Amino acid sequence: MTQVKLQNVTKEYGSETAIEDVSLTVESGETLAVVGPSGCGKSTTLRTVAGFESPTGGRVLFDGEDVTDERPEERNVGIVFQDYALFENMSVMENVTFGPRMNGVQKNERVNRAEELLELLDIGELRDRSPSTLSGGQQQRVGFARALAIEPEVLLLDEPMTGLDAKLKRQLRSEIGSLLNEIGVTTVYVTHDQQEAMAMGNRLAVLNDGWVEQIGTPEEIYERPVNRFVADFVGVSNMLPATVTDDVIDVGVAKLKRNGHPANSDGTLVVRPEDFTVGSGAIEATAVDLFYLGDQTQLEAELNNGESVSVRLDRTTDAIKPGDSISLDIDSQAVHLIDQ
Ligand code: ADP
Repeated sequence: MTQVKLQNVTKEYGSETAIEDVSLTVESGETLAVVGPSGCGKSTTLRTVAGFESPTGGRVLFDGEDVTDERPEERNVGIVFQDYALFENMSVMENVTFGPRMNGVQKNERVNRAEELLELLDIGELRDRSPSTLSGGQQQRVGFARALAIEPEVLLLDEPMTGLDAKLKRQLRSEIGSLLNEIGVTTVYVTHDQQEAMAMGNRLAVLNDGWVEQIGTPEEIYERPVNRFVADFVGVSNMLPATVTDDVIDVGVAKLKRNGHPANSDGTLVVRPEDFTVGSGAIEATAVDLFYLGDQTQLEAELNNGESVSVRLDRTTDAIKPGDSISLDIDSQAVHLIDQ
């Protein structure tokens, strides 16, 4: 297994800087999800690891070895794209054995390897079918099998679930997640979908406008975002301006216990919808809108200083109607203070 390191990688296209000074490490066997809005540089980062792009500055290292100037075929990377990119004139089996055949693997071995992967991905019965007769989900499973068949040092996945319906996505997510853990291949997983990134990544790198804003485990990113961008991009955040003194965090509508947050550092308090409790507490608010989401209801409320907040209601909360006066409390242990 291979450790992948980008050191201060910059890629410019003319006057356009696609990524700037990106440094990150994908540890051997882990899945790093690279996540951020459209145009933030995710694909450029992935293509640089693959060797399709040469960086304008910085270095790419595989296990400490400089591969910056190596061509893609010298790097032994497996790639899965959003649009499957299967060979339409070949059967599923031929697609999956194509890479190993090019690499000179003997026929018996490549067929055995392909059969094993098709079984693992639960598509053994599709081996003789043409890709054009398969559903999107089936084609993407073939895409995974084809990428893994070359026994890559590094697996690169570029929005592999985009375009699949929500249920299929959830199913593939869990199957592919277990498969990656089982095989233990070092993986870079590019997605614009923060939930998918949290589900698939052992760690996440959050990109914004060509920069890495934060790298961390899903818990670190969600519970301790380093700035407003990360707090806003990953999950739903309420951002309340805060003044912190020795003992309390004052957010205007309430004073909370400081609870280990840095003292004397004014900033913004990140309050997740689930950090509120409804029905007790000193914060007065008015219910504005309610969105029923099945397992929860999202309440949009207006505080008496005019700020709007999103609050998560669980199913047991008594019915609240738009226009009702409510009281809210904030769990001071759960909230997070950022210094912007
Ligand atoms: P993402 O994958 O996050 O959507 P990309 O890596 O594709 O972002 O693009 C990052 C930025 O670089 C964008 O502003 C995009 O327009 C620009 N870019 C990407 N590829 C090229 C290219 N071949 N020529 C010029 N600009 C490019």
